[in-house]
Amino acid sequence: MNVHDMSGKVALVTGGSTGIGRATAIAFGRAGARVVVTGLNPEDGKTAVAELEESGGEGFFIAADVSDATQVEDMVRQTIDAYGRLDYAFNNAGISGPMGPSADYEPEDWRRVIDVNLTGVWLSMKYEIPEMLRQESGVIVNCSSVLGHVGFAGSSAYVAAKHGVLGLTKSAALDYATSGIRITAVCPGFIRTPMIEGAIGDDDEALAPLVGLEPIGRLGTPEEIANLVVWLCSDDASFVIGSSVVADGGWIAGYRLG
Ligand code: NAP
Repeated sequence: MNVHDMSGKVALVTGGSTGIGRATAIAFGRAGARVVVTGLNPEDGKTAVAELEESGGEGFFIAADVSDATQVEDMVRQTIDAYGRLDYAFNNAGISGPMGPSADYEPEDWRRVIDVNLTGVWLSMKYEIPEMLRQESGVIVNCSSVLGHVGFAGSSAYVAAKHGVLGLTKSAALDYATSGIRITAVCPGFIRTPMIEGAIGDDDEALAPLVGLEPIGRLGTPEEIANLVVWLCSDDASFVIGSSVVADGGWIAGYRLG
């Protein structure tokens, strides 16, 4: 059963080709929205669109690098050309970057992580917002992380970018709070996706230390974040502006002995 009726609406999911983005594209499709899925790898994009269609949704893939202004502008233009409007945007594309102590980080690695994870979110909003202003409505959900709230050794660029996404979300939300546009953020804990499996390992033994950080005793699923994003975009969240919603199995709530 679909809790939310998004028929007639159009959703754009950056980084929708795998992981959390793919699950969110499918969730938007199930709610009745037409969905534009973006990413870098067209093969993954094709698979995501096939899964979206198998679950009853409609959409298509655009290859676009969120760190490139021209490609992002074109991504939004293609969305409007195809569907005529943009109601929901999940600015989700991200990379983990290499792990290592802050002073050992190479400048080009630092720049890439910030370019994709922070500038990519700003660039996406830069071209999404004018379409939403024209409609006088729209919802943007930016993907931060629990690492937008706390530090994590070995991930300084990623953590800086995700903290930045929260500041950007709050400021942009205030810029447009009276324009019919709601801007919010989600902060997932550890979710089992290609990003985590690529960085840590894809078997239960490798992932056990991350599970140990989660009071709930397991990693999250992409669908658990997708459901939250769709709720934030729905009218049920009409008073939610500038907030970051943490979905992390209790990880940053505090400490638990035993
Ligand atoms: P994922 O499966 O690796 O998905 C990342 C997505 O971003 C892919 O579709 C990827 O496309 C796309 N992408 C990467 N670089 C891009 C670029 N420059 N331009 C456009 N698209 C790009 O990872 P995920 O775990 O689902 O991550 C999704 C978001 O959730 C990220 O922002 C991540 O930081 C955040 N997050 C994840 C976790 C977690 O535990 N998994 C926790 C907190 C936050 P290609 O595959 O084609 O490159």
